[in-house]
Amino acid sequence: MVTENLKKVEERIQAACLRSGRKREDVTLIAVSKTKPVELLREAYDSGIRYFGENKVQELCAKYEEMPSDIHWQMIGHLQRNKVRQVVGKAELIHSVDSLRLAEAIDKEAGKQGITARILLEVNMAKEDTKFGLMPEEVLDFTKEIVRFQNIRVEGLMTIAPFVADPEENRIHFANLRKLSVDIRKEKVNNVNMSILSMGMTNDYEIAIEEGATMVRVGTGIFGERNYAQ
Ligand SMILES: *Cc1c(COP(=O)(O)O)cnc(C)c1O
Repeated sequence: MVTENLKKVEERIQAACLRSGRKREDVTLIAVSKTKPVELLREAYDSGIRYFGENKVQELCAKYEEMPSDIHWQMIGHLQRNKVRQVVGKAELIHSVDSLRLAEAIDKEAGKQGITARILLEVNMAKEDTKFGLMPEEVLDFTKEIVRFQNIRVEGLMTIAPFVADPEENRIHFANLRKLSVDIRKEKVNNVNMSILSMGMTNDYEIAIEEGATMVRVGTGIFGERNYAQ
């Protein structure tokens, strides 16, 4: 099932790239495997997937041990400071940084490990009360604060768009996240690179690609519905 689903997702990604005049290799598909057993991750791996996204530190670390070592693990969920130690060095990119205290904790741990941690800033574009993330108008100042952390490199922005019946409603949020990254790039802040836009999930990844996504995070569309009751 995973293999067939991936084929369909791949076709849709290619069609969205074609429609918007983008190159397929400029969009990375992240298979969001949270709650799913490693057998299904292996099927995706055997179909060529090398980017996997998880939203819980413990689950990411467990799967990290079980899966092949050439996977680019992506931490996409809200991160607590007391879990930072476990995930730095395992997740190649942390998509969900939204506070200076969290950035500081990541910086400290990366320093201890002698590495540079790559991160994205999570932005709550639709200003939903239920979501984490910086408010769009806070992001520029935030990038100026974060330069003091020498073991961190900001690679771009991430957003989780609202859950809507018609994905077209989210186009504006994706377009605005892209504008924000362009504005920040113009400021040329040290350690801040705006090459990644992580946006778009199963319901809206095609629209996100049309609006400039360089990473799309697809779970249900690849692995099927999640059953949280299990
Ligand atoms: C679960 C999750 C996804 C994938 O959602 P689907 O709708 O299943 O594609 C993407 N991004 C984040 C941050 C998630 O937590």
